[in-house]
Amino acid sequence: MKTALVTGGSRGIGRAICIKLAAMGYYVLVNYKSNMQEAETTLSQIRENGGDGELLKFDVADRSQIKQTLGDWITTNPEKHVEILVNNAGIKDDSLMLWMKDEQWDNVIKTSLDGFFFVTRLVLDSMLLKRYGRIVNIVSLSGLKGLPGQTNYSAAKAGVIGATKALAQEVGRSGITVNAVAPGFIKTDMTEELDEKELKRMIPVNRFGSAEEVAHAVAFLASGEAAYITGQVLSVNGGLYS
Ligand code: NAP
Repeated sequence: MKTALVTGGSRGIGRAICIKLAAMGYYVLVNYKSNMQEAETTLSQIRENGGDGELLKFDVADRSQIKQTLGDWITTNPEKHVEILVNNAGIKDDSLMLWMKDEQWDNVIKTSLDGFFFVTRLVLDSMLLKRYGRIVNIVSLSGLKGLPGQTNYSAAKAGVIGATKALAQEVGRSGITVNAVAPGFIKTDMTEELDEKELKRMIPVNRFGSAEEVAHAVAFLASGEAAYITGQVLSVNGGLYS
């Protein structure tokens, strides 16, 4: 069974990606950290559209949880091949560097960068065996440009961009592509406290984007037809910065 794993699929961009990949015919593993109710809503929406999937709870910042939960799932479901992996789970915890606490640095880096490494390494094995895979990492404008108040988040996302380019070269011969999508300002819980009216003036398209618009870009890179695109970063930012 063609399967897709989306980390952080319970809300926002991850939810829209889950729904989109299910509509492409994938059985979707909806990962989440703690918000089971929201994760169940994602799964219900997948099923309402005629798709299917299941919830897989683990913290992407915790390597032993990943190994135990995802590792066990892979072992016990040999008929479900994870063809698509979307490393979407991410958090921000902003502060000027001078006042940034150790935990703020650690948590943000662990979630995006360590999460990418430990989850991807686990699913890579079967992609290599089947000689097919699509890995899409959700990064950020912050990781390309750097944003003040986000040294932790910018470093985490820039790290994932570097890893995307390196891994793409390692696995290209095996039918696996590795790309990144870099959203700008997207309407989700993460940007809830931002003033869209003020910020949209900087954005050529003059509005925040939607989670569905990011999901559309992910679906393109995750499609079979995108086989000759790898190691790229696709910005979805209304022209803000590329
Ligand atoms: P969001 O609405 O805050 O949702 C975050 C998702 O990530 C939730 O499903 C959450 O699960 C999950 N998550 C957080 N930490 C996790 C962990 N340690 N393990 C597993 N899952 C975890 O965020 P979003 O706006 O959709 O952002 C999604 C991705 O896009 C992130 O990587 C973010 O950095 C990136 N991004 C967003 C924007 C934007 O404007 N929104 C811009 C650029 C990049 P729970 O529900 O269980 O908490």
